[in-house]
Amino acid sequence: MSETIQIKTLTPLWTGDIDGKCSRIKETGVIGSLRWWYEELMKASGEDICNPTADNSEERCDKENGDICQVCRLFGCTGQKKKFGLRISGDFTDSTFVKYHYPNRPNKESNWYLKPGKLSTNHSIFELWDIFENYDNIGLIISLFGFLSENAGIGAKTQFGYGIIEPTVIDYELELLKRRLGEIKENKKIFFLKLNFDISETAMSEIFDETRNWGVCKSNGYLPTSPYFRYLLRESLREKSDINKSQRHNLMGKLNSTNSNLKVSHIYKNKKDSWEMRVWGNVPPANSDIRVWIKTLKDITFWEDKTVTELKVKENPKFKWLEEVLE
Ligand SMILES: [Zn+2]
Repeated sequence: MSETIQIKTLTPLWTGDIDGKCSRIKETGVIGSLRWWYEELMKASGEDICNPTADNSEERCDKENGDICQVCRLFGCTGQKKKFGLRISGDFTDSTFVKYHYPNRPNKESNWYLKPGKLSTNHSIFELWDIFENYDNIGLIISLFGFLSENAGIGAKTQFGYGIIEPTVIDYELELLKRRLGEIKENKKIFFLKLNFDISETAMSEIFDETRNWGVCKSNGYLPTSPYFRYLLRESLREKSDINKSQRHNLMGKLNSTNSNLKVSHIYKNKKDSWEMRVWGNVPPANSDIRVWIKTLKDITFWEDKTVTELKVKENPKFKWLEEVLE
């Protein structure tokens, strides 16, 4: 069985090369992000999932004994082939290089830049097929794809705004993923947030001194705002006396590091032609102060207090825990 998905990128896609660039969209990078999500979802539903990169062989699946976890069964591990193939074809074009300068900040933290990822043209195709004829996993992968296109992102650097896609030709049944996952046992751990904005013509120049190339992004249907909102969220955490530095780093990563449990998309134009942004993340269950903070994000006043008036949040954000998304 094989299926073809046609996609439109809403923000640039990123899969990294060895030299830190994104010369093309690599299948391995996309599969890596699908695997990461499948692991998280499976763990949330109470499955015992291995750690395929662990040094300690005890933590990895043991092919010899036939002891293979649900993720390795689908995505493969040493000695075990993955059950599906993916080929990405069609045209992508480079997104523009973006440089930021935050006003009123010390020099070392004031400059940011976003490297060019890839934007789809009209014919960006993801083709999926079953490698073993007696398995039918394509529906499940497409279901996962659909779930991520609605709620999160794909590829790498999603914490920095990359990877929001919209399938233009795809028939996915969320039911297939729901059935595989069953009941979510780790309740209130993974959350998804969507905000809608009214954006004035001058919004970008109000936020940043450096406004070069913003027009190009806007004409491509997105505003490269992820670093700005990450900064606002980080500052908000810093102001909370009950949240310490290590808790903040756990959620947001250290400044300029790539590790972050909280992902913030750029602002992009959604299907309804409205400016939208996604925030999603993993909240450690034991971390009650962070959980209290996360709840404040549901309220429009949190955002109104922080954003400039030219970048106006329209209504209370839509907030869902994983189990509500899969309801
Ligand atoms: Zn495994």
